[in-house]
Amino acid sequence: MKTLNPFKYSNDNKRYYTYNYFTQKTYGSKAFKVSIDAGFTCPNRDGTCGSGGCNFCSARGSGDMILKDPDLEAQIDHSEAIMLRKWPNAKRIAYFQAYSNTHDSLDALKTLYDPFFEDDRFVGIDIATRSDCLDDDKIAYFASKAKRKDLTIEIGLQSMHPTTGVWMNRGHDLDSVASCITKLKAAGIRTCIHIINGFPVETTDMMLETCDYVAQLNPDMLKIHMLHIIKDTKLGYQYTKNPFEIMSMETYVDLVVQQLERLPETMVIARLTGDGIGSDLLAPEWTRRKTIVLNEIDKLMLASNTWQGKYYKEH
Ligand code: SF4
Repeated sequence: MKTLNPFKYSNDNKRYYTYNYFTQKTYGSKAFKVSIDAGFTCPNRDGTCGSGGCNFCSARGSGDMILKDPDLEAQIDHSEAIMLRKWPNAKRIAYFQAYSNTHDSLDALKTLYDPFFEDDRFVGIDIATRSDCLDDDKIAYFASKAKRKDLTIEIGLQSMHPTTGVWMNRGHDLDSVASCITKLKAAGIRTCIHIINGFPVETTDMMLETCDYVAQLNPDMLKIHMLHIIKDTKLGYQYTKNPFEIMSMETYVDLVVQQLERLPETMVIARLTGDGIGSDLLAPEWTRRKTIVLNEIDKLMLASNTWQGKYYKEH
């Protein structure tokens, strides 16, 4: 007999609020992201607050899958061509992914972003950045733009633990993230936080605490990543010299299910595992099998008869 799905924000077997469900509700159809590297850098790389970047971050600032071409239209064509093969009728969201996409003057941001907010090819704009790259004037600008077109701003938290922040060389503190998310929400801008599981300096309890912290901040969306160890990063060199234990897929799946249980049921889970990053991935190998990881999460949620928000406590 088919088990009924008790999770209400779902139209399939998923027991968490998927990005796909969100796009269907928001745009009336599937929508995919067109990844863009607009040529920014990051305050943690250019000396503004640090140098060398976060220890896990690749030379391309997490924009490794984007076409290496400074021409944004060439990047868009390349990214679209790949996605349209899978979803020919889907809508498009312009996703400013690489580095910190608000790390410039307000005038420079207006020059870049104004045309995208007028560009009818895109139903939404998604901007990934750091909490220390959004002052009040920039937030006011984006708030005015969010009235013109659907906008999400993504902020990296990674971990709530200050010791991990120092270990990864993040270059800003927890208050910076909390204050930025509060201001963005007050300005009516949709927010998304990123966290990472599997830091070798963290216990499972610490990762659950980070999840509880996110539940309190209550952004509209959350991306949960497994730590990728990538060639030619500080962490990659460290791992090659002295390999440390890597979280297994089983542990990750179990942890993610516990994290989902502790989050509000209305929080969109924009990612639960990363996309393949080709030959530069040193570990863990299992992250290449994205579909298997997602299926295992579904299977465990069904077997445990659990769902997102089951153990969420409002503070
Ligand atoms: S803040 Fe982002 S772009 Fe900058 S080094 Fe860290 S992960 Fe990379």
